Amino acid sequence: MTDVVLRRFCEQCQAYREPHETKQVGPERVRLSACAICGGVLRTEQQRIARPLTASLLRAYAYPALPAIAVSTVVAALTSAFAAYVPLIGGLLSATIVIAFVFLVLRASAEGRDDLAIDTEVAERLSEWFAPLIRYLLTWLVSFSGALVALVALGPPAGPLVAFGLGLVGLLYLPAGLIVAAHGDGCLGPINPVPAVRIIGRIPGPYAVALGFLLLTSLVGFGLLALLQRVIGGIALVGPLALRVLGLATLVVMARQLGVLVHEHREEL
Ligand SMILES: [Zn+2]
Repeated sequence: MTDVVLRRFCEQCQAYREPHETKQVGPERVRLSACAICGGVLRTEQQRIARPLTASLLRAYAYPALPAIAVSTVVAALTSAFAAYVPLIGGLLSATIVIAFVFLVLRASAEGRDDLAIDTEVAERLSEWFAPLIRYLLTWLVSFSGALVALVALGPPAGPLVAFGLGLVGLLYLPAGLIVAAHGDGCLGPINPVPAVRIIGRIPGPYAVALGFLLLTSLVGFGLLALLQRVIGGIALVGPLALRVLGLATLVVMARQLGVLVHEHREEL
C-alpha cells in the first residue's frame, strides 16, 4: 500500500528541503514556502511512498478483529461445523466452506479491500460447490508430488532423503500455489505450476518475508489452539465451536498476509 506525502523541492539548490529548511515569505494572505538556504521559492511535489511490507503483514493480526470480518469468521466457522452433519457429503461440505471463505479473504486482501464481497449466488452444479476444495487439494498435491514420487520410486536409503529435500521445495511453493488457487475458476488450474513459480521469481525477497510471517502465524495460532484444546475442549458444544472459530481466525490471518503480499507488490506481479 502506498501513502502520498508532500515534499518541497528547491530548483536553485536542486535539493529537497525538510520543514526546518524552509521559511515562509510574502504577505499574510499569500504566504509561500521558500528555501531557507538560497531564498528561492519551493515547488510542492506529491510523492507516493511504499509502506513497508512488514508493517502491513503485522497489521494482518488485527484483521480478524475488524467487526465485519469477525462476524463473517464466526458465521463461516459455525456453518462449517454444522455442515459436517449433512449425511454423506458433510465432511467435504464443511471443508469446502472453510476453503471458500479463506480464498475469499485472500482475494479481497489482494485487491486491497478490508471488507469481503460475499457472493450470495449459490452455484448450480455440485462440482462448482467443491471447486475451491478441489483447487486447494490439487495445490497440495502439486506441491508435494515430487517428494511423494521420490519416496516411492527411489526407496530407502536415498528416497526419504530426496523426498525431504523436495518436500522443503514444495513447502516454499505451497503459499504461491494457494495465491493462484484462490484466484482461479474451475478445478484444474493448480495443475499448472508456472503462474505460482512466476510469483516467486518476481518478488523472491518479499515472498521470503511473507513466508516467515506465515510460519510465525501458524506456530502461534495452532500452538494457542493446542493449548486451548486442553482448557476448553471438554466444554460441551461451546468448547469445540470456540476452537473452530480460533482455528479459522488463524487461517484468515494467513490468507490476509498472502493477500497483502500480492496487493503491495501488484505492480511487479
Ligand atoms: Zn535553495
